Amino acid sequence: MLGVQILGNEKVIVKEYTEPTLDGDNILIQIKASGICGSEMHGYRGAKPQPFNGGHEVAGVVIDAGNSTKFKVGDHVGVHAVWGCGDCRWCAVGQYTFCDNRADCPGTHAERIAAPEHVCLRLPEDIPFDVGVLLTGDGLGVPYHVSRRLNTKGGDFVCIVGAGPIGLGNTIVQSFLGAEVIVIDINDYRLSLAEACGAAHTINSKEVHPLEAAMTITHGMLADKCIEAVGRAETLKLALTLAGKAGTVMAVGEQGDVPISPSRDLIRRDITLMGSWFYHYSEYPAMLDLYRRGLPIGRVITDHFPLPEAQAAFHKFAKGQAGKVILEP
Ligand SMILES: [Zn+2]
Ligand SMILES: [Zn+2]
Repeated sequence: MLGVQILGNEKVIVKEYTEPTLDGDNILIQIKASGICGSEMHGYRGAKPQPFNGGHEVAGVVIDAGNSTKFKVGDHVGVHAVWGCGDCRWCAVGQYTFCDNRADCPGTHAERIAAPEHVCLRLPEDIPFDVGVLLTGDGLGVPYHVSRRLNTKGGDFVCIVGAGPIGLGNTIVQSFLGAEVIVIDINDYRLSLAEACGAAHTINSKEVHPLEAAMTITHGMLADKCIEAVGRAETLKLALTLAGKAGTVMAVGEQGDVPISPSRDLIRRDITLMGSWFYHYSEYPAMLDLYRRGLPIGRVITDHFPLPEAQAAFHKFAKGQAGKVILEP
């Protein structure tokens, strides 16, 4: 089958790989859509070739159900990217991200994938595969789980630092929940996407001072909740300054150590700093319900490329000239 190999130095190739094999409780899925994730940019920009690719946001059709009693040939499915063992106390309640024996989804920028049935999620047939990628992957999963942790109330000022796909997804979910969303980025194109995703205000922090602009917008109160969706030390520090008194800062962007001052950043203003990773498998029915009730999560998607044009797709995404980019085998 065809699959994408990340070569590093901003290069990828599409080449032949051996077919995935069915064993255990795996089912075989013909991939219809696979999303490019910001987390893949480390490998794409890195120096070393990888054996395969880091794709993990995927939807497709079951073409061999193996021993499954849950799925049959022809069913539409998405795949949860964190493969919990299925047996521990966390997996038993669908919280695979807490599993100590979890595995990662192998690369999904390919024609087919074999996945254990307990990490697959049924997609109703009327849902397009690209939207299915969002509903079962990072696209909605990350912002949905963030929203559960943040417990946003209508009228809250929510400041989102970073307008990549995760920032945009959070913009859609938070504004759908009634928050007045302020999005900060340095990329005017992505800020225009943020407006289309429901942001009430956008700030280009290259042009105006973000703290002063946020002060004006919030009448001096600053944000009730602040979501860091970039993964850089300076943007997390910015998020801490943008949170108002008794505010909450949510770290979503993965990164290394960041020095913070407990007195200045947390204690003197009663700030809560928290993290949130991916989403729980058990949250999927509620996420699907939110979509059915009109959540316009599809607005995150800007581009579709056939799998053989993976290089052009990665290039456009890495340039910051796209929201969510979907590869279609
Ligand atoms: Zn991802
Ligand atoms: Zn487990």
